[in-house]
Amino acid sequence: MNKVPEESGASDAGADDAGTTLAVAVETPRHSAVGGLLDYRAATPLPPGTLLRVPLGRRDVPGIVWGGAASATPAGVELRAVGEVLSALPPLNEAWRDLVAFAAGYYQRGLGELALAVLPPELRKLDNTQLVRRVEKLQRTAAAASDTPTPTPTPTPTPGPDRPALSPEQAAALDALAQAEASSRPTLLWGVTGSGKTEVYLRTAERALAAGHQVLVLVPEINLTPQLEARFAERFPGRVLASLHSALTPAQRLRHWLQAHLGMADLVLGTRLAVFASMPRLGLIVVDEEHDPSFKQQEGARYSARDLAVWRGRREGAAVLLGSATPSLETWAHAEAGRYCRLTLAARIGGGAMPRVRLVDMGVLPSPGAGQERVLAPGLLKAMEERLARGEQSLLLLNRRGYAPVLHCGACAWKSGCPHCSAWRVFHKLDRTLRCHHCGFTERVPRACPECGNLDIAPIGRGTEKLQEQLTHLLPTARIGRIDADSTRGVGRLEQELAAVHAGEVDVLVGTQMVAKGHDFRRITLVAAVNPDSALFSSDFRAPERLFALLMQAGGRAGRDAAQAAASEMWVQTWHPQHALYAALQRHDFTAFAASQLAERRAAGLPPYAHLALLRAEGRTAEAAGAFLNAAAELAAEHAGVTVYPPVPPPVSRVADVERMQMLVESPSRAALQRMLAAWVPGLQALRSVHKGVLRWAVDVDPLAI
Ligand SMILES: [Zn+2]
Ligand SMILES: [Zn+2]
Repeated sequence: MNKVPEESGASDAGADDAGTTLAVAVETPRHSAVGGLLDYRAATPLPPGTLLRVPLGRRDVPGIVWGGAASATPAGVELRAVGEVLSALPPLNEAWRDLVAFAAGYYQRGLGELALAVLPPELRKLDNTQLVRRVEKLQRTAAAASDTPTPTPTPTPTPGPDRPALSPEQAAALDALAQAEASSRPTLLWGVTGSGKTEVYLRTAERALAAGHQVLVLVPEINLTPQLEARFAERFPGRVLASLHSALTPAQRLRHWLQAHLGMADLVLGTRLAVFASMPRLGLIVVDEEHDPSFKQQEGARYSARDLAVWRGRREGAAVLLGSATPSLETWAHAEAGRYCRLTLAARIGGGAMPRVRLVDMGVLPSPGAGQERVLAPGLLKAMEERLARGEQSLLLLNRRGYAPVLHCGACAWKSGCPHCSAWRVFHKLDRTLRCHHCGFTERVPRACPECGNLDIAPIGRGTEKLQEQLTHLLPTARIGRIDADSTRGVGRLEQELAAVHAGEVDVLVGTQMVAKGHDFRRITLVAAVNPDSALFSSDFRAPERLFALLMQAGGRAGRDAAQAAASEMWVQTWHPQHALYAALQRHDFTAFAASQLAERRAAGLPPYAHLALLRAEGRTAEAAGAFLNAAAELAAEHAGVTVYPPVPPPVSRVADVERMQMLVESPSRAALQRMLAAWVPGLQALRSVHKGVLRWAVDVDPLAI
């Protein structure tokens, strides 16, 4: 516990000594000597979880009462008095504080820093009078809503007219789920795309709501919230649904957070940050697409919302339901070991079949002719022409936006590198720019080679823009659409593009992984992965897992309409048709894929069989960053049971003129790794003050990529 000595001449210096001492969580600089809890004096005891304002240095900052009784104050040290108490709000409950304390400890961040970062920013600006008004307004609105004769929610699980009948698999899953909840194990709902996972979420939520609980639903992306929100709103009229994600205005976010915290919202639906929503009656957490990397925060406290959801469920006695067609290997291993209950939905609703997977061996195709480029295999093109003739849609997946990944001069071998990063700048033909996708550095495309003046500089490789252009020549009568991060920049653009696909205004849709997720395209009967091979040989050990999930998910876009399912196809253009990943994909065999990947991970000592943390450092030079990491490795030497690997540069080592280095820390035991990090990380701040060339450093526990 740290003391804030009274500053001489402070206005409250003469205040009465009596009263009580409180430990308050405040936002202090990360890894500073102050652990995030500071002692303050209050006239009367305040319950833990109370929000208030406290003086810190010359500032007035928000804080949360953490402990009622603090350690004894040494003689001669006078504590500063707390400021305004935000009594308009009930205290944040113990379960919430436990979650935050666990997350701060596990992910090696300051307690106060994390606690205040996950609250709505608007809370900092409002005084208690303003908060009282906000709360009263919410209560008035709620009262008005309950007075109007809206249909009351059906507390009994009798099928209403709008509820679809359950498939036998869904019914069995729901029964099993009730038992899993009783055993307080998390449940993996493993269901192929189109198998009706959402209906299981809805029915489970219905049970939780009927029991008086609040329900938290986490989704990986904001884009997917409107669809799901609409389904929950339709199913539970009269229930209050609050969404929490980064696209809300500050005022909306505060309002929705208050609805959750005050217990008014029955359902809270949101992206990863919503795992920290304060919900006094929490009874169920659903994590949809639990394998999605978006659940891992990539800056600040690098938490996994999926993992925290599991922890929170256990702490609060709330059921946890993790849904996926291609579960993360971590979750799969838990299910295999019996730590999670596994429920399977193997059949698509309506009896639709999964699309037939056709592997095209690009290595045996005849050469397209001198100077010609093979875009699509002849068989694939023919299959697309047939769809076009029948009025069906095709989806081409290419996970690279822009026109071409690099421009190249044939005369002097110049390439369009970024002057600030160790990466190529991507050629965007539509606006004639070279753009760095790492630092954003953008320039007009040069007319001639900047090195030798050669006019003949050419793009190498292919991105979505180029594929779209090539398709207009290959299929001249087709209407070609494109959805990627460039085409959907701007409010409402993605919705417009999706609406055009749904309305049948697009015959062939070209897209990045953005289009593979969740969207329910009824008329797509052909999905093709144009060039997916690179992930097979990536240095990132999770690349095959992500590729398999992406292809399964993309394939799931085809044949959502049962009538067309039988004729639906997924094409994969590959130079490695014998690869085990594609063989498993062809059989829609996630189990085999997961087993082979887990065997590889076990042999290589990778998660889930080992636990990892990355120490990253950034400096003006790679030497400065490396020296810091080497010194950190020396500090770590005394910890047993943990292996510290030599510092290495990440795949893209320089971004925006900053050199990056990273060092892997590994242990077969999660507990040993946690013990080591807790002892090691506080010393790194002192180390950094010696290594002046280090601009930033951070610890990433359970990193997604190494
Ligand atoms: Zn040149
Ligand atoms: Zn750059």
